[in-house]
Amino acid sequence: MIKKINILIVGQGLAGSLLGWRLLQAGHSVLIVDPGLKHTASRTAAGLINPITGKRLVKTEHVEEYLPAAIGLYQQLGEFFGETFWHAKRQVRLFQSDEECEQWKKRRSEAAYKPYLGDQFNADTKAYLHDSLKGGFEQKQCGYLDTNLLLDALKQYFQEKGCITQQHLNISDLTVNDLTIQWQNYTADKVVFCDGYQLQNNPWFSWLPLQPAQGEIFTLKTSKTLPEEIVQFGKWLLPLGNGMFRLGSTWQWKPIDEQISAKAEATLTVALEQQFPQYSDAKLIQKQVGVRPGTRDKMPFIGNHPHCSKLSVFNGFGSKGTLMIPWCSERFCELLTKGVMLPSFVDIKRYEGDCPVD
Ligand SMILES: Cc1cc2nc3c(=O)[nH]c(=O)nc-3n(C[C@H](O)[C@H](O)[C@H](O)COP(=O)(O)OP(=O)(O)OC[C@H]3O[C@@H](n4cnc5c(N)ncnc54)[C@H](O)[C@@H]3O)c2cc1C
Repeated sequence: MIKKINILIVGQGLAGSLLGWRLLQAGHSVLIVDPGLKHTASRTAAGLINPITGKRLVKTEHVEEYLPAAIGLYQQLGEFFGETFWHAKRQVRLFQSDEECEQWKKRRSEAAYKPYLGDQFNADTKAYLHDSLKGGFEQKQCGYLDTNLLLDALKQYFQEKGCITQQHLNISDLTVNDLTIQWQNYTADKVVFCDGYQLQNNPWFSWLPLQPAQGEIFTLKTSKTLPEEIVQFGKWLLPLGNGMFRLGSTWQWKPIDEQISAKAEATLTVALEQQFPQYSDAKLIQKQVGVRPGTRDKMPFIGNHPHCSKLSVFNGFGSKGTLMIPWCSERFCELLTKGVMLPSFVDIKRYEGDCPVD
């Protein structure tokens, strides 16, 4: 028997999950298709939210909109499921050079950076730092999402509603015509690809300039006292409690093979040894690798295919999915359910000229 649904979602990463949640809340019927793999970007990510990033300490564009939407949604989901997904946490960033210290001073004087930059400190004020280091500064409005816990809770919720199926969707099995989408025994009004970096192999959307970036993260356990706060030092250390911490992350543009490379392993090991020699004997619990769905202009890819409005994409969240996806899913849901236009900076219309005619 053919089942009719409104929206077929391909992928249950953070993007597909939060979009699926919002669409269900808005009263739409959805089916999410996902094979349940472990090495996806969302399952690997540390879930950090960090408004000020990069060597030049740049404020993420639109963070004023993204941040309240993200924290609001993660808290709302936490209340709904009776779990804590969002952990607001203090963060410090250590100066890697005198130039970085100068850059901090400059930023600190800019009004737009005030809500995100805290005070400077010297290394001797932190028990976990060597006195010889340059010190650093406090960062405000930071924390991390327990992404796996959230994805598991949402997966169970979708299962209870009968709106998820654990399998890979072969794009050649989709029938698309002017009126409907057909897949297996479903017909849908629309299909939305939330397929992460696999978008590069998607025949309808491979013209979008995706720039996937592979990354590795270690989870370790130490008997020594860990910092209470997240520490950014070129890499980052995220304390999880009970001696557990995560260390990340690496960046690799070629090859994209979802394999942990010896080079990436050495990068993390050396970074830990240099910055925190006291944790060098920590026990390695887990090594993880995933691929960030980065984009050329660092902005998401959202919207309808220029030549077929039955095909849509919700992707391209790069290294900032935790921050961006809640706000973007609200905008996209408004487009799908009420026809409200997308903000142009996320809309794939900006690349429409690159889309092949056929
Ligand atoms: C090492 C690393 C560290 C990161 N750290 C952070 C961080 O600290 N903070 C932050 O905000 N972001 C971080 N990110 C980025 C973050 O993970 C992404 O922005 C976000 O998770 C992207 O979510 P997504 O749902 O678009 O993609 P994904 O999580 O990749 O999900 C895509 C899903 O689609 C499925 N899929 C693909 N093709 C098909 C198909 N044909 N049929 C069915 N299913 C399909 C996949 O199996 C997958 O489940 C990190 C990423 C990596 C790799």
